[in-house]
Amino acid sequence: MCTKEYYKLYARRWRARNKEHLKEYRRKLYLKNRPPDRPRLIVYTPEQRLENSKRWKREHYRKNKERLCQQARDRHKRNRAIVIEAYGGKCTCCGESTPEFLAIDHINGRDKGPRGQGDNKLGFQMYAWLIRNKFPKHNYRLHCSNCNNARAWFGICPHERDRNQNAIAAD
Ligand SMILES: [Zn+2]
Ligand SMILES: [Zn+2]
Repeated sequence: MCTKEYYKLYARRWRARNKEHLKEYRRKLYLKNRPPDRPRLIVYTPEQRLENSKRWKREHYRKNKERLCQQARDRHKRNRAIVIEAYGGKCTCCGESTPEFLAIDHINGRDKGPRGQGDNKLGFQMYAWLIRNKFPKHNYRLHCSNCNNARAWFGICPHERDRNQNAIAAD
């Protein structure tokens, strides 16, 4: 570990150990420097603070709904492109390479654990998760919708069945 990182870690630990002290220090600093026309410091209870932040989030979402939704769609498109590229850009079964047809396939099915945890994710959450986790290959591969649906409905893709039969015939 380099020195800078070490000090960062040390500072973080110190802050964690001295939370109360820091709080008191910041409060005093605020009271000392607060502009004279400001009324007394309002102290919210934790419940009130939570309620305030919830209200602010709701308001913010309502005011910026269009923009936020568009941002989310753009982000998902970008993430999808990144993930597809990272997993080879074509269907691992038939070689289809049109991005619109491609999707990530769980090789051994999804975990049956609670939704949204670990690698039990779907859709935009899954793409973001794959990027964050540097594209794990053990349970994910790229499939086109044809191969994916065939596997989901019939357990095996016709391409795979043909390949198996050819292999048997060649023996
Ligand atoms: Zn395919
Ligand atoms: Zn196939």
